[in-house]
Amino acid sequence: MDAARPGEVLAFIGIGANQGDRVAQCEAAVARLGATPGVRVLAVSTWRETAPVGPVAQGPFINGAAALATSLAPRALLDVCLDIERAMGRRRTVRWGPRVIDLDILLYGDRVIDEPGLCVPHPEMCARPFVLGPLAELAPDLVHPLTGATMADLAAAGGA
Ligand code: AMP
Repeated sequence: MDAARPGEVLAFIGIGANQGDRVAQCEAAVARLGATPGVRVLAVSTWRETAPVGPVAQGPFINGAAALATSLAPRALLDVCLDIERAMGRRRTVRWGPRVIDLDILLYGDRVIDEPGLCVPHPEMCARPFVLGPLAELAPDLVHPLTGATMADLAAAGGA
């Protein structure tokens, strides 16, 4: 995987969909990320099918992750993700409900951010095998800035 250049930060985006043509939508979201000024897609994980989590009965997800090198600030990167979700037709009706695309900032370099509307590392990533698997695939030696554990260790622990 290519490295981030000076002025860029290595960031990881979690990608999921459980409505429509799920893989095509995940790939379209990656293409939109890559077409964004200030974003370079360095690598994309394999896609995996996962059972839905949470209280809402719904179909299985396709999940994966992308490694980005970005010169965008965290908030600007979040806005890009939300704009792509909107452009792809996501409607926020039911919390944890079905979605045509879901983009989450999992990691933004080693930054720890806890603000209204933006929490990085993503607070649920360590509990989600469908996030840790793709991250371990892309960057096994990457260290979680809060726990100090590598993505490989976290994935091997299975998502506690
Ligand atoms: P979701 O239903 O998971 O797509 O939640 C989206 C909301 O979570 C957005 O309105 C964001 O403001 C908020 N949010 C907080 N932290 C993050 C993050 N790391 N990545 C994406 N969205 C986040």
